[in-house]
Amino acid sequence: MTRPRRVAVIGSGPSGIYAADALVSQSEVPVSVDVIDRLPVPFGLVRYGVAPDHMSIRSVRDTLNKVLDKPGVRFIGNLEIGSDVSVADLHAYFDAIIFTYGASRDRRLGIPGEDLDGSVAATDFVAWYCGHPDADRETFERLVPTATSAVVVGVGNVAVDVTRVLAKTVGELDHTDMPQHVLDTLGRSQVADIHLLGRRGPAQATFTTKELRELGELLDADVIVRPEDLAFDEASQAAIAQDKAIARNVEVIREWSTRTPTGKPRRVHVHFLARPVELRGDDRVREVVVERTELDGSGGVTGTGQLTAIPADLVVRSVGYRGTAIDSVPFDERGNVIPHADGRVQREGTTVAGEYVAGWIKRGPTGIIGTNKKDATATVASLLADAGALPAAAHPEPAAFDAFLAGRGIEVVPTAGWQSIDRAEQALGQSRGRDRTTIHDRAELLQQARSTG
Ligand SMILES: Cc1cc2nc3c(=O)[nH]c(=O)nc-3n(C[C@H](O)[C@H](O)[C@H](O)COP(=O)(O)OP(=O)(O)OC[C@H]3O[C@@H](n4cnc5c(N)ncnc54)[C@H](O)[C@@H]3O)c2cc1C
Repeated sequence: MTRPRRVAVIGSGPSGIYAADALVSQSEVPVSVDVIDRLPVPFGLVRYGVAPDHMSIRSVRDTLNKVLDKPGVRFIGNLEIGSDVSVADLHAYFDAIIFTYGASRDRRLGIPGEDLDGSVAATDFVAWYCGHPDADRETFERLVPTATSAVVVGVGNVAVDVTRVLAKTVGELDHTDMPQHVLDTLGRSQVADIHLLGRRGPAQATFTTKELRELGELLDADVIVRPEDLAFDEASQAAIAQDKAIARNVEVIREWSTRTPTGKPRRVHVHFLARPVELRGDDRVREVVVERTELDGSGGVTGTGQLTAIPADLVVRSVGYRGTAIDSVPFDERGNVIPHADGRVQREGTTVAGEYVAGWIKRGPTGIIGTNKKDATATVASLLADAGALPAAAHPEPAAFDAFLAGRGIEVVPTAGWQSIDRAEQALGQSRGRDRTTIHDRAELLQQARSTG
């Protein structure tokens, strides 16, 4: 084959963009890449997950954006694989497909009352404050200004992000790219108490220390830890001794437990050894029934049967993200990932020719943004090693794929369309004294994409 290999990358989050970069940064095999996303805009959870007040982490998108400008790379937004076009359709236009479509559904708690009004998934809350086009704006505009006590279930970084966004003043968030309606709604919040619930002890929590520390430095919120929650069994002591990150977290939490509240208008209560067993309410959630747990000596916990109730008219469940299947792609229902061998998609133990996987949908929702770079590069190495044996596409010219999409009546957002959205968001932000303001409305995004002039 003398022509460039045509590769479709499904998902423009970090793993998709790092995969595209690895493909066009080598010179052994000529490659032309289309990075496809169901949304009109790229960057996945860097745009719709990473907390807007973590501006330096969000600025990673400047690096990702440069990849979309590289020769041989095209962005094709507003195209959902599995509904707008099938994976079989793609095989007619591409020699290889890399699935990098992430893992953005919520896991459930599996307890009574979970579906009461006022109980929401962190995935949905984060999507709303980041301005995701599919976010349920009406629900959050109703819930946030009418809640006074919130419970956030989970002790990972996402739970900490959610807690911090609820605890910060609008002044602390005003410089971010949050949509104006989100800032306005948070400005009307009545939330005074935010309870962060972890079922295990401080030595088992999975925060990074930098994120954790921020909770102790909020302008308008005291952080409160009960000394009796600082329980450490032998397994905890060993973890603290062996792992510096755990030791640092425990040190921060220990210091908080010695603080006396200073009377700030908001309070962040960090609870350990507390597992929610039921959400109770009427037309809306009113309280979370919590069972005290105790460490079982091996890193786990058992229930003590001792119950208390925490008042809550907003509950944010942050117990993890999970991947889902698309179309005909093989899927491991237990691990919620696409099965693979060195990034090559596997169906019942056999490699599916021309299909590859990287990122969260390959590994599950773990690791930081940079983890996806190594992962995507490894998958691309497998693809390049297979380059001579890829199933050749029937219509490999980029124009043939464009004509196919146009024939289906699908309005995609090309690179120039995304650049137009990018400029519009910067202009909107600058009109309000910020670097950027996220445009959240899909119709408006598409309209901006059309004005590429
Ligand atoms: C709330 C939150 C906060 C985080 N904060 C940090 C942080 O501060 N620092 C850090 O290092 N990491 C952070 N992470 C982790 C980081 O965001 C992930 O490691 C990374 O985004 C995973 O990359 P990915 O490309 O595999 O998936 P994603 O980023 O989810 O990208 C997947 C893309 O695929 C698209 N897609 C999905 N389905 C389809 C389809 N059918 N057709 C076409 N496109 C599709 C999606 O629209 C999306 O753009 C955070 C994660 C979350 C959830």
